[in-house]
Amino acid sequence: MATLSIKGVRKSFGSVEVLHNIDLELEDGGFLVLLGPSGCGKSTLLSIIAGLEPSSGGDVVIGDRTVNDVHPKDRNIAMVFQSYALYPTMSVRRNIGFGLEMRRVDTSSREDAIARAADLLQISHLLDRKPGQLSGGQRQRVAMGRAIVRNPDLFLFDEPLSNLDAKLRVEMRTEIKRLHDRLGTSVVYVTHDQVEAMTLGTKVAVMKGGVIQQLADPQTIYEKPANMFVAGFIGSPT
Ligand code: ADP
Ligand code: MG
Repeated sequence: MATLSIKGVRKSFGSVEVLHNIDLELEDGGFLVLLGPSGCGKSTLLSIIAGLEPSSGGDVVIGDRTVNDVHPKDRNIAMVFQSYALYPTMSVRRNIGFGLEMRRVDTSSREDAIARAADLLQISHLLDRKPGQLSGGQRQRVAMGRAIVRNPDLFLFDEPLSNLDAKLRVEMRTEIKRLHDRLGTSVVYVTHDQVEAMTLGTKVAVMKGGVIQQLADPQTIYEKPANMFVAGFIGSPT
């Protein structure tokens, strides 16, 4: 079964169409990477999936529900951005559980969910700290903890590692892969980084100018690029 289907999605800002007739499918438990240069429409597509931006046409289907008119908070998705705004005055524990607190989840279920997420992310020893006392990588783990406790059907990541230095980026890439293996939750992951895309994705959609140039598994994209743009962008041997 498909977790996510995108059918003929278009998006215009004013008279400029920035997404042209996008079709995508992500199978249950898959890891779909949207890869392409800056400005190609990755974040816009992710925002449409999240419901933060209306499309100008087409359908977004999550599970068996067409969600075009469904409010973001009722789509059962969790999003992690590059600028992960943690609440500076709250402890890590409360940052992770705040969404559940807002939804009036009772204290003991909330504590259980926080403990599980913290264990998974190996940040149990940091729960009483404030964000200001954490490194960049630790803050990123807290941001992921916040997403995990919501137990979503789908994770959406928008360049979550682009503010980290090279060494941390590799570490967190491994961490995201491990989490995906452990949780088995479907992911849509936006990046302009080819290596990130090829190491994380079970499927990669290479985009340019609001059009998907190729949608395939990483090996196929590398060995059989659909066109010159894909070959050049991926750095395939030609
Ligand atoms: P990416 O995430 O791949 O860098 P974006 O989805 O942010 O690309 O942007 C795709 C195109 O849409 C760009 O040309 C960008 O300038 C334009 N765009 C994005 N958001 C808006 C907006 N709110 N208003 C007008 N144009 C926008
Ligand atoms: Mg973007």
